[in-house]
Amino acid sequence: MAALGCSGRVGVSLLRRGPPLGSGPRRHRHPHKDKWATTAPRIPSTRLALHHFDTNYSLQLKDLWPSVRASLLCEQKYGALLNNFTPIDHIAQELELLNATDFVSEASKKVQQLQQGAAVEESRRRESRSQEESGGSRTVVQSETMTQAELSPQLHTSITSNIKCYTFPRGDITRFRPAWPDTLGLLSYYLMDAASVLPVLALNVQPDDFVLDLCAAPGGKTLALLQTGICGHLAANDVSISRTKRLYQVLSSYVPREIRETVRITSYDGRDWGELEGGTFHKVLVDVPCTTDRHSVMEGENNIFHKRRTKERQMLPMLQLQLLMAGILATKPGGEVVYSTCSLSPLQNEFVIERAVDVAETQYNINIQVEDLSYFRTLFQDTFSFFSECRLGELVLPHLTANFGPMYFCKLRRM
Ligand code: SAM
Repeated sequence: MAALGCSGRVGVSLLRRGPPLGSGPRRHRHPHKDKWATTAPRIPSTRLALHHFDTNYSLQLKDLWPSVRASLLCEQKYGALLNNFTPIDHIAQELELLNATDFVSEASKKVQQLQQGAAVEESRRRESRSQEESGGSRTVVQSETMTQAELSPQLHTSITSNIKCYTFPRGDITRFRPAWPDTLGLLSYYLMDAASVLPVLALNVQPDDFVLDLCAAPGGKTLALLQTGICGHLAANDVSISRTKRLYQVLSSYVPREIRETVRITSYDGRDWGELEGGTFHKVLVDVPCTTDRHSVMEGENNIFHKRRTKERQMLPMLQLQLLMAGILATKPGGEVVYSTCSLSPLQNEFVIERAVDVAETQYNINIQVEDLSYFRTLFQDTFSFFSECRLGELVLPHLTANFGPMYFCKLRRM
């Protein structure tokens, strides 16, 4: 990967190179007509994507790949992100009657149980120690319960988010019915890949935080950020004007005007953000454009594996690195960045993180700490299937019983 220039952008000149000489379309004789067709027989982009994934992901995921592959090709599962700006109690009851559960509050309960278990274990061990010290015989009971000290430090800070996202249990492929408007015309829930909520939870927004959503459209995660109800200031940006319009539509369907008007919506090239407003935000979400693996194997339209988009696809890791660097530069010292993709590709995931940590240090003298998010696996394993061998960050793998994702997310702290 090329080095970052002093503008903060990575070797952009590479992007402008024209096609190699002699690479024009081959001419093939049309089988039925006596004329020349100007294009080679077209292999569908979805087939190209699958072939590419077969080659790469079978090496990465090994025995897991056939099952992940089948899941990518099957109907995906959705989650219903409840809209806290509408009266949600009866919606929640209705969804619970259908056997759906809010996986965020389930995780909060799990944290409490783990903490209570740890407190009990601690006093049990203390008692056994004091018995031993006072001359009594010590009964050594092997316990799998952890003490407070052994619990992952992150588990001490419970998931306190106001975000509520309902999913059906593993193996249950019931679909949510479309959301309906309340008396004020706002929709009761937003249907999205439930794994998309995880990067927002990882961001762990605190009251009055200044938050930047750098690649925000069409707005699922922006909406989830607003559901926390505590952002001090929220800036939502996306370079695409047409997709930014969709972001406006989502917000106007779900968020009351007075809240909507507090969100700053822009259409800048996110790569420039670090220079425009460096060191400003407590939390930055960098949900980058990627190979959108599920879309790429299922949908011909707007497919990044289309032959004419080869160069764009190959340049994705570079664009992702530039956007992540801009996110890091936009963060205050001590602030946090969550990087996410909906791809399984290590080139777009861990490698981008490693490169960004390196560039931040060598070119900007910024120290970055990659945060441990393994407690997400403990908390959300009932709902999602996680890849256990991710070197940095966490990766949700599509699974036939829990067909969410792929979703990669990694949290960085600017020291
Ligand atoms: N966060 C969104 C959500 O949850 O609905 C999805 C974001 S999508 C994965 C990636 C977005 O990045 C696209 O909307 C695309 O227009 C935007 N994008 C691509 N290049 C960009 C750039 N240079 N600056 C800002 N946004 C960019």
